[in-house]
Formats: sequence, C-alpha cells, structure tokens
Amino acid sequence: MKQYDVIVIGGGPAGIAAAVSANDENSKVLLIEREARLGGILKQCIHDGFGLIRFGEQLSGPEYAERYIKELNKRDIDVLTLSFVTKISKTKENLFYVHIVNKKGVDTFLTKALVLAMGCRERTSKQISIHGTRPSGVFTAGTAQHYTNLLGELPTKECVILGSGDIGLIMARRLTLEGARVIGVFEAKNTPSGLTRNIHQCLYDYNIPLHLSYTVTRIFGEDRLTAVEIMKVDENLKPIKNTEQIIKCDALILSVGLIPENEVAESLGVQLDNRTNGPVCDGQYMTLIDGVFSCGNALHVNDLVDYVSENAEQAGKNAARYVNSDRCLININSSDDFLYTVPQKLDINQNNSNVIVYFRSRKNREKTKFVISVDGKEFFSKKYSFLRPPEMERVEVDFNSFNLTKSSNIEFNLVNF
Ligand SMILES: Cc1cc2nc3c(=O)[nH]c(=O)nc-3n(C[C@H](O)[C@H](O)[C@H](O)COP(=O)(O)OP(=O)(O)OC[C@H]3O[C@@H](n4cnc5c(N)ncnc54)[C@H](O)[C@@H]3O)c2cc1C
Repeated sequence: MKQYDVIVIGGGPAGIAAAVSANDENSKVLLIEREARLGGILKQCIHDGFGLIRFGEQLSGPEYAERYIKELNKRDIDVLTLSFVTKISKTKENLFYVHIVNKKGVDTFLTKALVLAMGCRERTSKQISIHGTRPSGVFTAGTAQHYTNLLGELPTKECVILGSGDIGLIMARRLTLEGARVIGVFEAKNTPSGLTRNIHQCLYDYNIPLHLSYTVTRIFGEDRLTAVEIMKVDENLKPIKNTEQIIKCDALILSVGLIPENEVAESLGVQLDNRTNGPVCDGQYMTLIDGVFSCGNALHVNDLVDYVSENAEQAGKNAARYVNSDRCLININSSDDFLYTVPQKLDINQNNSNVIVYFRSRKNREKTKFVISVDGKEFFSKKYSFLRPPEMERVEVDFNSFNLTKSSNIEFNLVNF
C-alpha cells in the first residue's frame, strides 16, 4: 500500500493550496479529486471578482484556479482525479487509511496526516420543503450555473429565484445577460443574504427586483414547472394568509444556503460545530482528531476565495509539520451575537502568535467592537462601523502575548460603542 506524509482530499482552491504548502515543507503529498479537472467550484465561476486580496487583481474563477494549478504542476505532488474518497479510518499506529473508488476499482492509501478540503454543497428544494408537484425546472443556483457556463445550455427562459445568496445573485445577472428573464429574487428574511456588492452589481444594475420577506410556497406543473406561488412572510418567516400570488415561469432557481461537505469527515468521527457545520478546529486548523486538518469551505463557508487559499496554506503547512505530540486544547467561548467564530479551540502547546480568527455577526449591527478577553480582561479589540451576516470578518490575533494556561477562559464578544 502506498504511503504519504499528507493526503489532501478535494482539488478545489483549498486543496490545491494545501497540497502546495505541504509539499513546500518537504512532505510526500497526494491530492485526490473526484472530478476530471482540478479547480473545484471555480471552474464554473466565469465572472470576475476573485483574487483582489491575494493578487490585487480582479480575476475570473478559472484564472484564479489556474495560478494555483501552475504552482502545483511545478512540484512533485501526486494527483489522482476522477477518484472519489468514500471513507477514512484510523490505524492503531495513529495513521490514516484513505479509501477511494475510481474507474480502476477500489484502492486504499496510508498517510500520517490528512487535509479535508471537500468544499460545500448547496441546500436543495428537499431541504426547504416547498409544497406542490415535482416537475423538472427546479435547479439549485450552482446547477443552473453549471448548465449555463460549462455545458452552454440555458436552463430557463423566465424564472424566479428563491433566496438572495451570492450564487443566486450572480446567476440572476448571468441568466439576464444570456437572454433569460429573471422575474425577481424572493428572500424570506428582511435583509439580503448576499454580499452588498453583488446586490448592486447583479440586481440593481440590471433592474432585477429584490423582494424581501417573501417566500415560494408552492410549485405547479406536471413534466415542466409552469408557475410558482409566492407569499409574504412575517418576522418568524411564517407565510401570511391571503398574500398568495401566482407567478408564471418555467424555472425556480434556489439560492438558499451552502453546507460544508463533511460526510467523509464524519466517517472518521470528526466532531462538527453546529454553527459552522464544519469541523471544530484549533488555531492550526487541526480538528479534534490528531493529524486531521480542515480548510476552505469544508471548514466554514468563506465568502472570498482569497481567505480559502489563506487558511488552506496554513492547514497544509501544519499538516506537513504535524508530529504526534500532546495537545492541550482550551475552549474559545463566543457569545450568541455571532453566527459563528473559527477557530473554536486553541492548543496551548502550539505557537499561537498569529492565529487568524474568522467570524460572522448573527444580525446587522452598526458601531460594534469585536472584543477578545482572557479571564475577564480585554486584550484585543477592533471597531467596525457595520457588521452584516453575509460578510465574513477576519482578524489576526497574537494569543502568545497572553500567558495562556489550561484554565484560561477566552471569550469573544460583540459590544456596541
Ligand atoms: C457562484 C459562486 C460565486 C462565487 N463568487 C466569488 C467571488 O466573486 N469572489 C470570491 O473570492 N469567491 C467567490 N466564490 C467563492 C469561492 O468560489 C469558494 O470560496 C471556493 O471555491 C471554495 O474552495 P474550496 O476548495 O473550499 O471548495 P470547492 O471549490 O468546492 O472544491 C472542493 C473540491 O473537493 C472535491 N471533493 C468533494 N468531496 C470529495 C470526495 N469525497 N472525494 C474527492 N473529491 C472530493 C470537489 O469535487 C471539489 O472539486 C464564489 C462561489 C460560487 C459558488
């Protein structure tokens, strides 16, 4: 059985960056990707807006991916495409078996450390329970994007978009440019879920209406969707009686959220955080299973690929440097004002001098201070004019400046100023 120092699962921007940085630490690395080509979701994101932070340029998704694939190709890294990781398991010697299936059949590899970089998947109509028939014409925004950008097939002539997530906003513009009519974007919450720049550049610039506090309650049509019913919702997102309207259309496009892809991680018993839906990790991106690291959208849904590459590089480097040593994990307690915070733990036996903390506020806030305190004493703070749930925030913190011990109580809070 072939053995590696680091196996990376997922060949999107996270997996590629992790494989490159692990190899740069002199590790023998295998990268496994289920699709035929590397690049992950970026392959179908032909709009620009990628790489502003990393490269100071507005690249398209494929251009951004290509820069990393070039780096990968310069190195001695084994790459397996069209290979699906079905399961991972641990040996008695604290190594990991990675089980794959591909056209040759099944195979197993052994590794000292693992990086989980499987990205995320979209919520589907089954997960949001809409009444009515089940005709064709109901697509997730990512599927509509795959048809339009990769297969060159327009999936709709006239559609309704449910949810104001970024993929839906980008597809509203894309479908309009391709000659389809986007009747409107309907969002159950009273604030949009996507980035402000996408609301302006993808909807307002193309006169596509955004209807807040509305949802789709029913689908009509036998073979193909012919109409949807929309209703206004109250503050608890419950449909309000007598607000029904029928809208004729041939497709319903769903942009109702992303879920980190962690079924393979769960097969190993990696503990997930129910706020991020990704693994609980420490400041080195190591999960609660020693030797297993997580990064990119599998860890938490990042809004910018630049941050994906950033945390993946760290995860890859740390996986390569991983030696089985005692960890002393302490909790980071974050208040309910956060949608989530990452990392959730710190290993005080590690160097925590530049831990990158990512967080999202649970609701829109103005004039807010992000405060970190240890044992009740404030030791780091940053002021924000605005915080919005769709916009992920990032701060770099030197936890070494504090003498952390096993009993230290680290708290993250948001306070008004
Ligand atoms: C429509 C859309 C628009 C976006 N717009 C922007 C933008 O303008 N600017 C920006 O910065 N970011 C944008 N993003 C975000 C950015 O694309 C993502 O943050 C980034 O692609 C996530 O990278 P990843 O490697 O974590 O996941 P992915 O790109 O999803 O890659 C994960 C890879 O893992 C593979 N995989 C999963 N499970 C297995 C398995 N069991 N075995 C083998 N392989 C597996 C998958 O096939 C996939 O290739 C956008 C995303 C979308 C969807």
